[in-house]
Amino acid sequence: MQSSAAFDIVRAGWRSGRLAHSYLVVGNPRTEGGTFARRVASMMLCEEDPQRAPCGSCSACRRVESGAHPDVLVIEPEKASRRILVGAIRPDADNPPGSRRFFLEWANQKSFEGGWKIGIMLFADRLNEQAANIILKTLEEPPENTCFLLVTDRPDEMLPTIISRCQRLDLASGRTPPAEPWRSRVASILSEHSPRSVLRTAATASRLAAVFDEIKTLAEEENEAEIRARSSADPDHWSAPSKDDMKAMVKNREKEKRAAVYQAMQDWYRDIVALSAMPPGSQDPPLFFPEFRDALAERAANVSFRVASRLPEFVQEMRSRIEDRNINKYDFVFSHWLAWMP
Ligand SMILES: [Zn+2]
Repeated sequence: MQSSAAFDIVRAGWRSGRLAHSYLVVGNPRTEGGTFARRVASMMLCEEDPQRAPCGSCSACRRVESGAHPDVLVIEPEKASRRILVGAIRPDADNPPGSRRFFLEWANQKSFEGGWKIGIMLFADRLNEQAANIILKTLEEPPENTCFLLVTDRPDEMLPTIISRCQRLDLASGRTPPAEPWRSRVASILSEHSPRSVLRTAATASRLAAVFDEIKTLAEEENEAEIRARSSADPDHWSAPSKDDMKAMVKNREKEKRAAVYQAMQDWYRDIVALSAMPPGSQDPPLFFPEFRDALAERAANVSFRVASRLPEFVQEMRSRIEDRNINKYDFVFSHWLAWMP
């Protein structure tokens, strides 16, 4: 997704009144990520004809650019700790009230100039956990006419609960999805899913569970092949790993491969979110699965944007059920969530 394509998605949402409350902007905060966030802020505050916003030259645009607009708050990590701490979010012992603009206070205040407020957090992956927990609720239900842009190039280091509350925009130009065997399988399975039929939901769940079973077999085979290769490369110094080590090795391999499946599911539902955010008749946003465009559009048309924007969160939930709680009744977990998902 090129940065201009991501911008088109936000602009279309803005013009049609279907802006997400919070965006996760994936790009370098020092370069394209930060620039993108400021450009979105300018677009929302520009005094020119909305069709031409951001004009880049009106007073609002110039103040956003120079950091002087009171309705744009940019926060970033403290220099010393290189973290975003609670003191940036709300007053604490080291940061008495009035000593700075606090993220939460600012968010809950009225707009200074009567328009939108845009809260930009650079290096959002450096939010410490306590600070992250404080802003969760605000991200989910921001004050009126307030939009948050969380910018990071390390989304994997962020709390899933934060990520799931944001619409994700990947700026990296020419981002190509990882080529792996599961990706198109997952898309084709999901393209036949429908929550309206219990049978279809069960079928989807068992087909996805079958992918995980295959992954298990493949992980075992790969592991054995690697051990054979290592033992024959240096037979004198090689000692066979213990049964427990073997198990752990296979488990890690499985986990890595399953990550690709979750990624494919996330991308599938992100496509639905992106399509559901577009006003009717507008051009398609760039899709992860353009080959399934019609199937995706049909789902997007039948789901409200509010529900659609939570779908990636549901995938995250499935993932944490299976991975964090070590549940291996995969089809059970899948069918539980898929009953609610288009
Ligand atoms: Zn302007």
